[in-house]
Amino acid sequence: MADFGAPDLDAFRSDVRGWLEANYPAELADPKAKTDPEAVWGGRRFAGSSDPQIVWMQRMAAKGWTTPTWPKEYGGGGLSPAEARVLEQELARIKARPAVLAFGIWMLGPVLLEYANEDQKKTHLARITKGEVRWCQGYSEPGAGSDLAALATKCEDKGDHWLINGSKIWTSYADKADWCFCLVRTDTAKKHEGISFVLIDMATPGVETRPIPLISGESPFCETFFTDVKIPKENLVGRVNGGWEIAKRLLQYERQNISAGFGEGGSAGGASGDLAVIAKQYAGDDGALSDIDLRGRITRNKMDFQTLRQTIARSAAESKAGNGPSATTSIIKYAAAEFAKERSELMVEALGHQGLGWEGAGFETPEIVATRGWLRTKANSIEGGTSEVNLNVVAKRVLGLPDPK
Ligand SMILES: Cc1cc2nc3c(=O)[nH]c(=O)nc-3n(C[C@H](O)[C@H](O)[C@H](O)COP(=O)(O)OP(=O)(O)OC[C@H]3O[C@@H](n4cnc5c(N)ncnc54)[C@H](O)[C@@H]3O)c2cc1C
Repeated sequence: MADFGAPDLDAFRSDVRGWLEANYPAELADPKAKTDPEAVWGGRRFAGSSDPQIVWMQRMAAKGWTTPTWPKEYGGGGLSPAEARVLEQELARIKARPAVLAFGIWMLGPVLLEYANEDQKKTHLARITKGEVRWCQGYSEPGAGSDLAALATKCEDKGDHWLINGSKIWTSYADKADWCFCLVRTDTAKKHEGISFVLIDMATPGVETRPIPLISGESPFCETFFTDVKIPKENLVGRVNGGWEIAKRLLQYERQNISAGFGEGGSAGGASGDLAVIAKQYAGDDGALSDIDLRGRITRNKMDFQTLRQTIARSAAESKAGNGPSATTSIIKYAAAEFAKERSELMVEALGHQGLGWEGAGFETPEIVATRGWLRTKANSIEGGTSEVNLNVVAKRVLGLPDPK
């Protein structure tokens, strides 16, 4: 699609504004309005739900705006990067809730657009844009985390179907997901060249999930077991033994999206709210924070995030204008994870004793959120590839350094 000049963008902005006024559900504009917190992830469980969050998702999906830059033929909005930016700004202006949060949008969809055949695109992409199917990621295994290519889940060609046996671990939301994009071993003689990328319906007989509780009190991920699971031949994406290239590409999209979620206002950075404002409230100061050292560290963290946000925006624009994300997403993922962990540490420090709240009458909800968020941020430098592994990617793929002897 041709890029728009400023006057056309102004017209587009005014259309978006009018549409949002007419279509953003009034219930969602009320911060006290109750919606099912799971609804924003969509999926089979919510198909046809009248929850205002689902109504919002469906209205955005009908415009193609849950995936603004994807092609219209697959349910996307067909917008140019400049138009998508305008939409983003207008959604932020009215503080709109996300229409849908989806691994399908952040990770799977972009690689299906690159690697899937036409039937697979037609079947899966539109369902993702409409929030009808919730996806999970079956990558890690008990013996394959950082060394992902050591994965052993076996996938055998049985003529008219694939037969899968093995297990995955740390599969986020596997117990709530409808489908799983999964790395499997189709050749045991070769490591990287023996991996394939398949799509598995979680309702298939032989699929079992067991939630794993975390230190933060949450249980967002599961062990996932596959016992004699039969999947159709057409559920293989790309070529047999060609899954490693797709797997790596997907990780770049994952790292790009994880980074975008960190920081103030982001959903992945632990406690929410302006760190400096909260610190001042707890210090009881009217003006500047009296603890000069804490003030300096909060200021530096805020500046780091500000710089990071600009870098993320630049990198996202480069990615949209070029060939998608590159290995530089590892730089951003690394920095975002470390800044987010530091921000949460500062938050707990600023809250003093109240920063140790777990539950009970002595603690307000934001304090409990801060404590639990702080524990959750410990995972920031593990999920989507650990900080050490991302530094290795930067060394090899960005700086071109040789492998250590
Ligand atoms: C919140 C969260 C959500 C997750 N969700 C999913 C999901 O949905 N699907 C999924 O498949 N996985 C998921 N994971 C798993 C995640 O991808 C793995 O935990 C991660 O890749 C690390 O693997 P591991 O836990 O096996 O650690 P290991 O690989 O055993 O690493 C242990 C330590 O050794 C270091 N290390 C390992 N190799 C090297 C090396 N070559 N050089 C330097 N240091 C090294 C690591 O950095 C780490 O500190 C999730 C993890 C978390 C924390």
